Amino acid sequence: MGMGSDDVTETFGAGFLVRWLAAVAEDVDREADRLTELDSAIGDADHGANLKRGFAAVTETLANEPPATPGAVLTTAGRQLISTVGGASGPLYGTLLRRAGKALGEDGEVTRERLAEALGAGVAAVSQLGGAQVGDKTMLDALVPAVEGLRSSYEEAGAAAEKGALATVPLQARKGRASYLGERSIGHQDPGATSSALLFAALADTARAEGV
Ligand code: ADP
Ligand code: MG
Repeated sequence: MGMGSDDVTETFGAGFLVRWLAAVAEDVDREADRLTELDSAIGDADHGANLKRGFAAVTETLANEPPATPGAVLTTAGRQLISTVGGASGPLYGTLLRRAGKALGEDGEVTRERLAEALGAGVAAVSQLGGAQVGDKTMLDALVPAVEGLRSSYEEAGAAAEKGALATVPLQARKGRASYLGERSIGHQDPGATSSALLFAALADTARAEGV
């Protein structure tokens, strides 16, 4: 590590992903009220609380039993989210991380490119589980461009996710609770796309802090 993000052979181990998810937990904790506010406009006002509970449990589990490989970090985190978060976002984020972890396999060190590929598989699984596509005003509007951006750099992933989340504002929701509102869902940023942007902002922050 520490050779710069333009070095394509740069690798990271389990610890990097543990620190990423700890950063996510911190950011979600700080932004919980905002996520809940967004969900109160077009949902049921629980998105902040859902993710706060979920990622706190993830952090605790990873601290108590640190997995040995990057893949195991993601599968453990995904399983924890599914069992802790009741709302739609728990199984969806859980599936994202579990499927990505499975794709990373048993390797002790992986590259950003492998992570992008693995998260790509995770995003496909989220789309399959929830039946949503880009443009339906869901977390996929941030996740899909984020994973695409991750093929270039951590920075690009964070920026693309943020842009995707902002782009949900003028859309009408076609999936999830917000879709019950029909046209009244227009003009509000999707809570799940917003939390997905937090995930990738935290990844970019962690990579920058560690010189990955
Ligand atoms: P719930 O909707 O059960 O209250 P949350 O409030 O935690 O769950 O999460 C809501 C978010 O989940 C939405 O903003 C949206 O981004 C995401 N979501 C809901 N349904 C789907 C789906 N079918 N596919 C992808 N994302 C979805
Ligand atoms: Mg909700």
